[in-house]
Amino acid sequence: MSNKKFVFMFSETDETMKNLVGGKGANLGQMTKLGLPIPQGFTVSTEACTVYYQNKENLPDYIFDQINSSLVELEKITNKKFGDPMNPLLVSVRSGARVSMPGMMDTILNLGLNETVVKGLAEITNNPRFAYDSYRRFIQMYSDVVMGLPKPRFEEIIDEMKEERNISLDTEFSANDFQEMIQKFKALYKKELNEEFPSDPKKQLYGAIEAVFASWENPRANYYRKINGIPSSWGTAVNVQSMVYGNMGETSGTGVAFTRNPANGEDKVYGEFLLNAQGEDVVAGVRTPSPLAELGKIMPDVYQQFIDLAKKLENHFKDMQDIEFTIENGILYFLQTRSGKRTAHAALKIAVDMFETNMIDKERAIMLVKPEQLDTFLHPQFDESALKKAKRIGEGLPASPGAATGQVVFNVEQAIEQVNKGNKVVLVRLETSPEDIEGMHVSEGFLTARGGMTSHAAVVARGMGKCCVSGCHGLVVNEAKGFFTVGGEKYHLGDWISLDGSTGIVYGGKIDTRPATISGDFEKFMTWCDEIKTLDVRTNADTPNDAKQARAFGAQGIGLCRTEHMFFEADRIKAMREMIVSENIEQRKKALAKLLPMQQSDFEQIYEAMEGMPVTIRYLDPPLHEFLPTQDSDIEELAQELGVSKEKLIDKIASLHEFNPMMGHRGCRLSVSYPELAEMQTTAIIQAYINVMKRNPDYPAVPEIMIPLVGEVRELKFVKDIVVETADKLIKESKMDLKYLVGTMIEIPRAALLADEIAKEAEFFSFGTNDLTQMTFGFSRDDAGVFLKDYYEKRIYENDPFATIDQEGVGKLVEIAVKKGKEANPHLHLGVCGEHGGDPRSVEFFHKVGLDYVSCSPFRVPIARLAAAQSAIKYKK
Ligand code: PEP
Ligand code: MG
Repeated sequence: MSNKKFVFMFSETDETMKNLVGGKGANLGQMTKLGLPIPQGFTVSTEACTVYYQNKENLPDYIFDQINSSLVELEKITNKKFGDPMNPLLVSVRSGARVSMPGMMDTILNLGLNETVVKGLAEITNNPRFAYDSYRRFIQMYSDVVMGLPKPRFEEIIDEMKEERNISLDTEFSANDFQEMIQKFKALYKKELNEEFPSDPKKQLYGAIEAVFASWENPRANYYRKINGIPSSWGTAVNVQSMVYGNMGETSGTGVAFTRNPANGEDKVYGEFLLNAQGEDVVAGVRTPSPLAELGKIMPDVYQQFIDLAKKLENHFKDMQDIEFTIENGILYFLQTRSGKRTAHAALKIAVDMFETNMIDKERAIMLVKPEQLDTFLHPQFDESALKKAKRIGEGLPASPGAATGQVVFNVEQAIEQVNKGNKVVLVRLETSPEDIEGMHVSEGFLTARGGMTSHAAVVARGMGKCCVSGCHGLVVNEAKGFFTVGGEKYHLGDWISLDGSTGIVYGGKIDTRPATISGDFEKFMTWCDEIKTLDVRTNADTPNDAKQARAFGAQGIGLCRTEHMFFEADRIKAMREMIVSENIEQRKKALAKLLPMQQSDFEQIYEAMEGMPVTIRYLDPPLHEFLPTQDSDIEELAQELGVSKEKLIDKIASLHEFNPMMGHRGCRLSVSYPELAEMQTTAIIQAYINVMKRNPDYPAVPEIMIPLVGEVRELKFVKDIVVETADKLIKESKMDLKYLVGTMIEIPRAALLADEIAKEAEFFSFGTNDLTQMTFGFSRDDAGVFLKDYYEKRIYENDPFATIDQEGVGKLVEIAVKKGKEANPHLHLGVCGEHGGDPRSVEFFHKVGLDYVSCSPFRVPIARLAAAQSAIKYKK
């Protein structure tokens, strides 16, 4: 028994209660408070969901008792009675997690109907067709969602009946037809499940609520959570809402609307509706709906009321809203509102427009764009000259912008198979459904024959930032035979097509793309982020080109230049190999002398590309065997080049073999064995610096020399002494007043634990969270993907610790090192250069623990800048 409250009437909740009653429930409560016309109801909390799972997937009686009391309360409010044939209360049962998960959780409408109630409903509404249509829909949904009897089994019956009657639309069925359909549905139910369809409305309600809780763990929901980083511990709430009917006839209808255009952000209410239909018809994309503006002609008053209230909601929530509504016999009801999913273009435009019209402040504007969405601007668009030559084969709705080119696939399995082979695919379907989510995620874009701008395909595409053309005219998909036709053309599985999600045009063949540019709203928005963020954003760049690209994206310096990448180039690898196979120090120094000018010239170009911004250069890091050939013929060639016998070279390669190279002779250990290596790299860095400063005396740059893979202060000190001796000598000879910093990477747990010792010899720390994750978990960064998927499936880990920082373990080491390091050296400068530096959730963590900067690949720089600004707002002191 528990005294805790698990069930809340809409009048008891508001927008601040999302964690407890879910997003949908909280907004229904808030809309009730704002005085909007809302069919009333109650919400069973997310905490009840937790109890359901703790209690072996059963709701305890004390929660059912609260549901029953709320039902009685709802009967009072609506003046109707659950199960009363002459005045029936019917309800919808819908899921509602803290954040919206479109299409992920299941909905049941018209609950409370049985043979007696449906008769009563037919009589009191004087509309038997409506009553029996509602009942058959209920049987279908309940059987599918609660009992797992798939929808297509029912669709088969419907199709057979259409054929018998020679009709093509559901709207052509009569009341009698629906009665016959109901009997057939029930017979199917009995045959498959060995029991009668439940007639007791309470039993229906209990079953439906438990089914929504159970659907929190269905594979689609799990997949959606994984790609969106939603913890499974949140659970979902369940909303039980009294029904209103959009299928009562021609003065009834249902629709979905956005307060602004979700594809391009235009400030104009944008929506679609269907007359004489229930909500699922619009969202499922089964019938193609009419544009909302048409409603203005059919029911001008209702239309105006809708527009006014929609804007009221947008003003209240200070965000673009996605609204579901129903009109029952000319009366408007709002069924739900939530922040609308939008394309990256729309997100930026909406944020900038709302700020510029004084609706919101800059901070709010920054919170309205998801960091990951910026990715869209950083990726290619169609090359215009290639587009002119392209063959146009069809046109549909421009449901989600961007350019997609790929090989045709027709289902999830084909998509995954092709992508695993390294191919790019475009998913072509009659319409998409939540089952397709995984295939959609790996595809470049989607093309559908049916459905409008608010169909599943369109909504999911915008959420994922993928390109989508929906409702393509004349597109006929034959999945079974593996082809589609459009405009008289036939395309088979594996053929190339291209989609333009901004115009809705479909092209045959592959079209070249060109890189995106930063300008307009994007540029403006990014400067706002820079005003607000406190974390600097640097980049990981090894070449002058990368450095230039990163600066164009707003990088404030280089946080990691991996020098080894310079040695892999064709003209350098030989000298590098010579250095590795050297027998003695003289030979090694000779080889290093060949590398020196090349490395020095690279550094000069990088300093110049960065124009005085900080540049952190890391010393050689990988194990040496990575530079040596493995193929017999290559070994022979190298032996000849080096003038040694093949056998000798083979022996040398074998001697470099290590069982665990990632824990082997690499990082600063190389300079401990071969101090002349650190000497050469220091000379290259400092000589390049001297040369560049002679040419550009105003550059404020101070090179940052970074020693990798340190675990003990004495090894850092050993390498640092070489660096300082070499650098100071060169600077003294130059007679210039030049400064440089020496710091280290923290990427070995021991270094994090002894950070106070290490900080005495380091002017900066850069967390190498790739290796730190590898060493903390004991997972190989190159191979762990193979078995980590089992860990996600079994819920041991929810996401990839190499992509998003593990705050509890690896993050703990970062926190310890920050604290100890700062205590020992208050001037210590702190950054991160592992892959996590470009991951928004990790950036938030690094902001929180007090790092000075993050460093990430050039293409993630804008994402990190936005994530840093959002973190600054979230944790404002
Ligand atoms: C790291 O380990 O996080 C790092 C940045 O270094 P690398 O990936 O080169 O080992
Ligand atoms: Mg490393």
